[in-house]
Amino acid sequence: MEPASGLTRGLVERLGKASNLAVLTGAGVSQESGVPTFRGEDGLWRECRAEELATWQAFETDPHLVWSWYDYRRQLVADAEPNPAHRAIADLESAFPEFTLMTQNTDGLHSRAGSRAVVELHGSIWRARCTHEPCVNWRNPCELRESPLREIPPHCPACGALLRPDVVWYGEPIPVKAYERSHVVAMNCDAMLVIGTSAIVHPAASLPLVARHSGALVVEINTTYTPISALVDATLLGRAGDIMPELVARLVDVLGPAERPTVGPARKPTLA
Ligand code: NAD
Repeated sequence: MEPASGLTRGLVERLGKASNLAVLTGAGVSQESGVPTFRGEDGLWRECRAEELATWQAFETDPHLVWSWYDYRRQLVADAEPNPAHRAIADLESAFPEFTLMTQNTDGLHSRAGSRAVVELHGSIWRARCTHEPCVNWRNPCELRESPLREIPPHCPACGALLRPDVVWYGEPIPVKAYERSHVVAMNCDAMLVIGTSAIVHPAASLPLVARHSGALVVEINTTYTPISALVDATLLGRAGDIMPELVARLVDVLGPAERPTVGPARKPTLA
């Protein structure tokens, strides 16, 4: 009997034939680690909507409020652990000849799960950059790991101006390199997994469509249908933390261990 999620043998076999796999993730992947998504009910903080805090206008109006929210989120992530979905995605990295993970998440949980090369489309909450354009830290984000922050809002160690989180806020463009790389990946992959994203924040949301248009098999994994569901090859409905480990296990079943290299160092191999 096929599983309720829709992860059929045929689909697993088609995914297994890919030699260039791309994965695009969103906030839903970290939800099972206890990191709130933006659009769920848990996206509310002190009665402010996350989407209203993640803007330059909000920062300009009240940097203390915006940094307090980031400090809260950073503490939450610092206490969180990667979940089975993060780990399964990390396992896929060495299982395909070419593999690229692109994430809209800023929490760093993919790297903590063992993913080595992550294209961060929206930056990282663990870095900050200066808001004073002539400063060296305006162009070069600096690591900001301390949690909780000693000073809110924090100031630039080089020039004393306000620091801002090194994340892409609503209305801002994504970093040029990440943008270019993600489009090249979308155009050249032969399969793409789109996991835990509401697929409404562009340009990330257009990547599955670019991949589909270029002939790739595109499979979405989400707890609910999204605006791209009708445009992709399959939507697997369910929690990423349930579906992704099952997908990896079924890929091994279909392909056999000899077909695939072992997973990366420092973690227990699950594909061999
Ligand atoms: P979103 O909040 O708009 O959507 C989350 C999606 O995940 C929804 O479609 C929801 O149905 C799905 N989902 C929820 N739980 C799931 C689960 N357990 N398994 C599978 N799917 C699940 O998130 P988005 O599309 O990533 O866009 C929001 C923006 O906010 C992004 O730009 C991102 O940078 C930022 N953000 C980042 C984080 C993070 O780093 N963890 C968290 C919230 C928001």
